[in-house]
This record gives sequence, structure tokens and C-alpha cells, in this order.
Amino acid sequence: MGPRPNLLTRRAAGVASTTLALLLSTAAVGAVPAASAFSAAPGGACVEPADSHANARVKPGAAAKHDPNELTAKQVRERDADLAAALRERANFRAGAGATALATVTIPVVVHVIQENSTRAGGNIPDSLITSQITVLNQAYAGATGGAATAFTFRLDKINRVTNPSWYPIVQGSSAERSMKSSLRVGGKNTLNIYLGELSDDLLGWATFPQRNLSSMDGVVALNESLPGGTATNYNQGDTGTHEVGHWLNLYHTFQGGCGGSGDSVSDTPAEASPAYECPTGRNTCSATGLDPITNFMDYTYDSCMYQFTPGQASRMLTAWNAYRAA
Ligand SMILES: [Zn+2]
Repeated sequence: MGPRPNLLTRRAAGVASTTLALLLSTAAVGAVPAASAFSAAPGGACVEPADSHANARVKPGAAAKHDPNELTAKQVRERDADLAAALRERANFRAGAGATALATVTIPVVVHVIQENSTRAGGNIPDSLITSQITVLNQAYAGATGGAATAFTFRLDKINRVTNPSWYPIVQGSSAERSMKSSLRVGGKNTLNIYLGELSDDLLGWATFPQRNLSSMDGVVALNESLPGGTATNYNQGDTGTHEVGHWLNLYHTFQGGCGGSGDSVSDTPAEASPAYECPTGRNTCSATGLDPITNFMDYTYDSCMYQFTPGQASRMLTAWNAYRAA
């Protein structure tokens, strides 16, 4: 199995220094070929508009019945075209204003704890789990667990506890979810709103991708017991949060697009035919070079198995930040 090499200090250099070049070069954001093959994920028929959602993370048993937000090849093309357009806009703006691209970013975080009542089973998780989650995010995005360092750090600004049985569990795509988010969401496009609770359909979490216009739906939803020290066996080291924040920063799943086309639009994540679950060391589902990236945060493996982003993912996130979320 793939032990999580906690707190290694191996860091990939050069992410920040490539920022401006990426920002100004639309070619670097990755054009998606029109013929990009899409390998449908389990339950992939249920797809929402690409601009209003992101991908859920699911447990193995849940995959067959519900994986609400896998992207189609068309949605990937649209998203990447929009990223290129947003970058062009920003490049023009910055050239005119003389501003520079952000190379390091501190993200303010507001955590909304949705509770049915005051019991642990009713969603009343302790503050210590939330502060541990922020620590896990900071380690993961710093490359401190073995992957590439990214530009991002996370600062917990507020824990907002809300008791409302009509929002519990949080049901993905429901009117209650829209009501919850429109009532609670705070901050600008740079503010990470995290909603914690019991979730529908055995989901571990879901997130929105960045958009040019801020939506009240923007944010990350995660299973409360997926936080570090929670009760979600095999998924309680906080990497659901890491994974969903990856979507919030514009990353696709490593299995996006299957073996064909441009996959997840990141060149240094080997192609993968389908999600990997548990920790299948040596899995190799595509003929292209490289074993499946089962240790990547954007796959579906156990928390103990995933511990890294790649330099390409770090660059993609920072590019998207500058295009969409930077002030
Ligand atoms: Zn996902």
C-alpha cells in the first residue's frame, strides 16, 4: 500500500516563477482537441451545466449509483476555452494597469458547520477537527506530504455554526443546497466557503469550479466526518477537503477523459481509464507512459494513499487563480 509520507519537505521548485509566463500565454493553458475521448464514469449520465458545479468525490459503494458531476468532453472544452478567454482578459487588463500576476496566495477560509442538532451525530463536530483540516490543506498545498508545492496557503477566518434540520443532510443539487449557500456564503471570489455536514448519496464532497462571475453556489461541500480525526473510515485524514479545494481551484479528476485526448488538461499526470479506489499499487489502465496516478489528490483513492499534486497541477491552479479568483 502507499503509505502517506507525511511532512516530507520535498518541494518542486519553480512554480511561482512560471506564473507570469503562464498567465500571458494562452497556449500554455492547454487546448482540448475536439476529438477528446470521454470515458464515462459510473453514473456519469447525470451531468449538470459545467459552470454551476464541480465534481463530487465518492466512496466505492456510491460510485455505481451517484457520481453527479463528471464532466463530458464538451464541458471540458468549454471550461478550458473559458479559461483561455479569462486569461486574455486579465492579460489585457494587467498590461494596461501595470499590475503583476499573483505568485503566492493566501486564501481566506470560512467554514459553515451545518447541524441538525447539538449532537455529534447531528453534525456538531468540534473546532479541533476544523483547525486540523486547515493544517492538512496547508501541508498538502505546500508539498509537505510529498508532492509539488503550490502557491496556496489557507487562513481560517471564521467558523459559522448553523443549526437547520432542513439543510441536513446536505443534498447535492437540491433547492435546500441553493437556499443554504445563498443564505450563508460570504466574501468575494477569493474566499473559500466550506460547508460541512452529513451528505446525500454517500458522497464525500463536491465543489464548484471557478467562474468569471461569482455565483452564490461557489464553494466546497465536504462530509463533516471526513475531516482529520473524523469517523469516516479510510476517508478521515482530510483529503476530501484537499481534493474538493483542487476542483475549486480548477483541477479536474486525474481520470478525466480516460486514456484519450488531453485527459485532465495537465501534462504531467499520466492518463487513467477510470477512477482508482482504495490503493491499487501498480495499477496501469492506459497504454500511454506512466502508471495510474493513484497517489494524486485528484483521484478517488483512500486518504492514506493520496499525497500529492504535480507541478503541472500547481501551475494550472495558479493560472486559474489569476484568471478567475484574484482580486
Ligand atoms: Zn472530485
